[in-house]
Amino acid sequence: MVTRSSLTKAAAVFMFLAVSPQSPAQETPADASAATQVKAAQRGIRTDRLKPGHLKIWKAIERIALEANRDGRPVRPTFHSLWQWAQKSRHTIYVEMDDHEVFHHSAGVFTIEDFNQELQSWTASIRLNLSIIQVADKIKKRIDGSNRSISLREVGRDARCAIIVGHELAHASLILENPQYARLYQECERETAAYYLAGGIAAKEYGNNLEMQKRLKRLQSLMDQLEAPADSVEVELWREIVPGLANRARK
Ligand SMILES: [Zn+2]
Repeated sequence: MVTRSSLTKAAAVFMFLAVSPQSPAQETPADASAATQVKAAQRGIRTDRLKPGHLKIWKAIERIALEANRDGRPVRPTFHSLWQWAQKSRHTIYVEMDDHEVFHHSAGVFTIEDFNQELQSWTASIRLNLSIIQVADKIKKRIDGSNRSISLREVGRDARCAIIVGHELAHASLILENPQYARLYQECERETAAYYLAGGIAAKEYGNNLEMQKRLKRLQSLMDQLEAPADSVEVELWREIVPGLANRARK
């Protein structure tokens, strides 16, 4: 199951690059402070953008994240701590779900939207593409590091969604809290935009443009670096959320 972040979305690049302090001419102090108050009240995970049917799926994901043992300890500590980070952070993370057919292969997308200078707080979103999540029938490499295919037939929709949410939350926490990783993310977004602006798709289709091949190789290496920590978190998430599947994979 592919769960790339929004690397191919040029819009996200421009948002991220537009993070410089806002010009005072754009807002009066009263407007800014009212906006800041609203923003401060909207921190954590926000479900405002979900339709009622999607909210039901989200509640199921939340139950998976927050389930506790009889002694109060979380059943799924990795997922639980990512969830708690998002819920208690100074940032705002909107969740979105889409069940239309999409033209890419991303099960989940993390996108940066906005920055509030006064609160030092980001607004971002995690989008789940339900049609991709539903049709995925196998995964490779995720559970035990091997390249074997593992059937997803017995993994239900809510568990699948929970794993994608956990994967995207891993990206979110790194991008929003770890400056080194945030720089890597920015570099990756810039390189992606530059690649497509330079005609990346056409160059790929028609083959032998050496310069474009070099760019693509560099982009792939940046994306691999960006994905590596989220992928290792995802290995833990599979063990926590679908323990039966992880046991079968080890055999
Ligand atoms: Zn990812």
